[in-house]
Amino acid sequence: MLDKTGRRIEYLRLSITERCTLKCTYCRSDEGACPKRAELSADDFVRIGRACAALGMNKIRITGGEPLLRHDVEEIISRLAAIDGISEIAMTTNAIHLPGRARALKEAGLARLNISLDSLQPARYAQMTGGGDLACVLAGIADSLACGLLPLKLNAVLMRGVNDDEIDDFINLAKQHPLDVRFIELMPMGDNSDIKKRIPTDEILAARPWLKPLPPRHPGQPSADYGAEGFVGRVGFISPISHQFCGECNRIRIMSDGMLRPCLGKNSELSLLNALADVDDTTLLETIRTAVYEKPSGHAFHQEGFTPDKTMSRIGG
Ligand code: SAM
Repeated sequence: MLDKTGRRIEYLRLSITERCTLKCTYCRSDEGACPKRAELSADDFVRIGRACAALGMNKIRITGGEPLLRHDVEEIISRLAAIDGISEIAMTTNAIHLPGRARALKEAGLARLNISLDSLQPARYAQMTGGGDLACVLAGIADSLACGLLPLKLNAVLMRGVNDDEIDDFINLAKQHPLDVRFIELMPMGDNSDIKKRIPTDEILAARPWLKPLPPRHPGQPSADYGAEGFVGRVGFISPISHQFCGECNRIRIMSDGMLRPCLGKNSELSLLNALADVDDTTLLETIRTAVYEKPSGHAFHQEGFTPDKTMSRIGG
């Protein structure tokens, strides 16, 4: 369906848990380890998926928190994939729990994976993530490539003085492997103390004029893609701050506690819990329809001092 500004909203980002194994400071608060809020059930997610499909959404991304912490993630994927009108189920994961599971996820109906990876150096990765094991992530990547979960996207959040000396190492991955390596601009969420470390996309591109723009893989994708002679993969830039793309935004987010947030960078949200308590889906459909129609026209990240009132791990990245 169209929102009130005429954007076609066809993409649901569904956070199935806010629990996470990692502790990336820019993403989550300490509470993320053991949140007190109840998580929706697989049945609830399926009802939400059906309602969104009835409203014209065709793509669902499972996220979190860390979605692979849900023991029923394969069930959720297979039931969502079976909904009429849903053409693609994708997932964003830190890949720590991915080794050995990629095939089962694919068989459940998962089409693609985005893997978050902010450093290619084991000690730095452990430090940035509060103890994450890079070897697990690399094994998960290899497993996903072997299973044909393609195109595989690696997302790195760059921070000045933290991991910006690895930009060319990341770009080299796209040169050698069928991977889309994407740099995400740091957004002011979570522990906001890192925000001064944001590196604007244009600065990275200016230093690498040999990267040439490529046509997008999909209309409305958030990344601007680049490539170079001899590259097997792509290098993408997701620049919500320096190149705001709200005019093309096609998504809404639903969180594991039943809250719907139409815009990542605005605090307005509404609860689906009452609607989910009804036995039929009429109210659910109408509640989601209203939220989609009222989606804010743009985020508030440019407003002085604005930070969303929830961390990314809670909202679902
Ligand atoms: N646990 C999964 C993972 O690590 O991919 C999924 C959830 S995580 C919230 C999704 C993505 O959000 C990650 O790629 C993470 O880097 C990104 N993210 C979290 N906080 C962010 C911030 N403040 N600015 C930019 N990206 C952020």
